[in-house]
Order: sequence, then structure tokens, then C-alpha cells
Amino acid sequence: MYQEFVDLLRQSSYCVVLTGAGVSTPSGIPDFRSPTGLYSKYPQEIFDIDYFYSSPASFYSFCKEVLLPMIDAQPNLVHEFLAWLEERGYVKVVITQNIDGLHQKAGSKDVVELHGNISRFKCDKCGKLYDHNWVRRELEKKAVPHCLCGGLIRPDIVFFKESLPWEAVNMAEMHSLSCDLMVVMGSSLVVYPAASFPILAKKNGAKLVIINNSETGLDFLCDLKIEKDLVEFCSQVWKMFQS
Ligand SMILES: [Zn+2]
Repeated sequence: MYQEFVDLLRQSSYCVVLTGAGVSTPSGIPDFRSPTGLYSKYPQEIFDIDYFYSSPASFYSFCKEVLLPMIDAQPNLVHEFLAWLEERGYVKVVITQNIDGLHQKAGSKDVVELHGNISRFKCDKCGKLYDHNWVRRELEKKAVPHCLCGGLIRPDIVFFKESLPWEAVNMAEMHSLSCDLMVVMGSSLVVYPAASFPILAKKNGAKLVIINNSETGLDFLCDLKIEKDLVEFCSQVWKMFQS
């Protein structure tokens, strides 16, 4: 199984990696969708856009306690391995559902963020961008940050009920149609459109590998399913690449 995966990577000339929450949990980032995760403490609708606009103060208290600390998290071996693979030309691009920016922190250059990035904020009226340090300082003084123009400031992430940024979706579709290998890591592939990219790739003749510690929505479609701990698996594969 390890060797099979290494061979697939070596044979591929256009490999796309799609990552989900499972890649970031070893870095201490909570899995927002897991039932035992955050929602036990915060209302289920915390990532709902209507909730944000109706209770911005309570969203920002969540943001201060849970989201902003994510920016200080450190990449783990999986992020580092993917950055290394890109540098060596084995991986073309990482498409991620994660908002923590850890792929870039690990050194990945070509990253498509489907759900935005928690280190960026923007005014919902004039669109002015604000960085997370500014927001942190504002939250010391007030419950909700506002722009100079009076607009409400929101994180540059995709809330539930919002559509994904079209540039990111376009890029992801383009890569999915161009790749000859798609590797899914740490995603249960139940959220659309993320789950549609492997289907696109597969329809277009690419091989599909899924590495996840539990079942996914597309197991029936993949050429190789690896049900293992991601960090352990990647560390083994990395050693094989280097030997
Ligand atoms: Zn503004």
C-alpha cells in the first residue's frame, strides 16, 4: 500500500491534493463538523451567515476564543510533506477546505482555499481588507470591529449558506480536469462542492487515492483507499521517498 502510493506519485505528471480537516487536527485545530467538537460548546449555527449578522458580538467572542488562536497553530508533518512534494515537483497544487493557512506556513506555494482564510478580514460594505492583528486589537476594546466607513467587519471565510468564492472554485475545477492523480487527505467528502472535484477528476480519467481514518462518501470511486492515521502514513511514505 505504501509502495503503491509512492509509485502513483512518481508516475503522475499532474497530481492534485485535496485536503480537509483531518490534515489540521494533528496541529490542534478543531474539526468544526465533528459532533464532539466545538458544537458542544457553541451553537450549531455559529458558522451560519444569518447568525453572524444577527449576533455579531457572540460570533466575535467565538472568533476571539477559537478562530484567532488558530492563526498561531503550527503545521504538522502532513503539511510539511506536501510542501516538500510540491518543491520536488511531485505535487502541482493543494486544494484545501481548511481556513487555517497551515499549508502556506509549511511552504506550499500553490494553494487553492475553498473556504477562505481566517487571517484575513474585510469590511462587508466597502470591501477594505484588515489583517487579524488589527482585529485582535479592536476586540480588546470592543465586542465587534467596524470599518472606518461604518461597515461591519467579517472574516474572509465562507459561512454556511454562502457560496464559495468563484475564483477558487474555478481553479479547483480546472486542476481537477487537468490532473492525472488526485489524492484526498483527511476529508470525509460529504460537503459539496469539495466532493465534486474527485468526481470530476475521475470522470476525466485521473486515478483517485483517498487517505482518511474513516469511511468517506466516495470510497466506492477510488483506486486506492488508505484507512490510516495521516501523520503516520505520510511519515512512512516520506522516508520511502528519501531512501
Ligand atoms: Zn468599510
